[in-house]
Amino acid sequence: MIVIMTQNMFVCDTCGNEMSSSHYHLPAEMKEANEIKFVHMECCSAEEIKKNLLSYAQNQIRFYHDIIDLVNDTNIKNIKDFEMKYGNYEEVSQGIRIDRDAYIASLISELKKR
Ligand SMILES: [Zn+2]
Repeated sequence: MIVIMTQNMFVCDTCGNEMSSSHYHLPAEMKEANEIKFVHMECCSAEEIKKNLLSYAQNQIRFYHDIIDLVNDTNIKNIKDFEMKYGNYEEVSQGIRIDRDAYIASLISELKKR
């Protein structure tokens, strides 16, 4: 849910060019093993875009299930577990939150070109 701004976010991990050379203001996130790579939307294959959309949707479903679980069984431990997983208010508000609607629209816009 939260992306901490890091140095490697400014250069595409696929082509090595600056992120600012993209048409889109957001990089695509490619999850690999234990790391997240940031790449130009333009540098993603159709398969990578679809994989990205699918994992995004699955993460959102998990997130909302966790909210429902928390509402159904509210106690301080579960609240703290939720905050550990998704960040507490301070962490979320200070982190860089990706505009999810724009992210999905960017991926789909690129998918159209494949
Ligand atoms: Zn690139």
